[in-house]
Amino acid sequence: MTARILDGTKIRDEIFAELKQEVVQLTSLGVRPGLAAVLVGENPASQLYVKSKIAACEQLGLASWLHTPPATVSTDWMLQLVSDLNNDDNVDGILIQLPLPAQVDSKRVLEAVSPAKDVDGFHPVSMGMLVSNRPGLVACTPAGCMEILRRNHIPIEGANAVVLGRSDIVGKPMALLLLHANATVTVCHSKSRDLPDIIRRADILVAAIGRAGFVQADWIKPGAAVVDVGTNKVTDAAEAQRLLANFPGRLEKFRAKGSVLVGDVHPDAVHTAGALTPVPGGVGPMTITMLMSNTVKAARLRRLSNTANPGKSQPAATAR
Ligand code: NAP
Repeated sequence: MTARILDGTKIRDEIFAELKQEVVQLTSLGVRPGLAAVLVGENPASQLYVKSKIAACEQLGLASWLHTPPATVSTDWMLQLVSDLNNDDNVDGILIQLPLPAQVDSKRVLEAVSPAKDVDGFHPVSMGMLVSNRPGLVACTPAGCMEILRRNHIPIEGANAVVLGRSDIVGKPMALLLLHANATVTVCHSKSRDLPDIIRRADILVAAIGRAGFVQADWIKPGAAVVDVGTNKVTDAAEAQRLLANFPGRLEKFRAKGSVLVGDVHPDAVHTAGALTPVPGGVGPMTITMLMSNTVKAARLRRLSNTANPGKSQPAATAR
């Protein structure tokens, strides 16, 4: 069996086309959705991520603003910036690129973001809305995984779903989204026993642990749908050989480049799973896509229900 490839790039293109139309409509109503990104310091990986987020805004016709305080910034300074952005009616989404420098209290800064503008979905209010299955802004990566499943018509209702990993930004919200879609959900973590047995019962597996090729091909139930969130850069030649022995083309690329991206699921799973997200090109493109989607949604929720008093930001509870 060779798994159907669940192509994240294709779904990103579909969603971008839908968002472009919605942005045109909203803009014609005087609501041009906008994202403010805050990039502290000069971390090259963060610079790259933020650059691609701003480029996505430009591609979709969204307004965007980039704030680049120096690495020496204080918590108070960041709180003031967040407060200014909360009060700016043109800003629909606030993105604080992580990690923040050690002297900044990241938790305080993230919790200062208005839940109505919390396009990363990290705020405790956003998490609470998700727990109680009320509409709100959902963390981008798990929301993207759901789009992959839904747009590929993977049956979720009644399915046994296993989520490997319980982080606040991927595992936990993923488990809640699957639960709300009526799957029977098992969440596993580093203390879980008998992982292979639990995983073998999964009709849907979402792997998000950050361990290259950890889930072995024979742990996958034949025909299962596998969403591989892991993005692990492998630079060790022996590890690359172990993971890619059956993929000579990828091994060749590894030798030329000195590194390769591998998910948390062993690439050989393509011969056991019924459907599988590739790494790269599966979940990866969906994260920025859902950030854009959340920004447009935040604009619609906050500003279209606010036309009677357009200069004033609404509190989260009424904006949802
Ligand atoms: P994280 O915060 O480090 O959480 C990892 C989770 O995996 C924890 O719950 C941990 O368990 C569990 N875990 C670790 N080793 C395990 C093991 N051997 N067996 C079972 N569970 C284990 O990571 P994250 O932020 O959720 O990210 C997970 C992966 O997804 C990473 O590779 C990350 O790069 C990737 N990611 C990709 C995207 C994307 O856009 N494609 C976005 C976000 C994350 P404990 O709770 O017990 O410690």
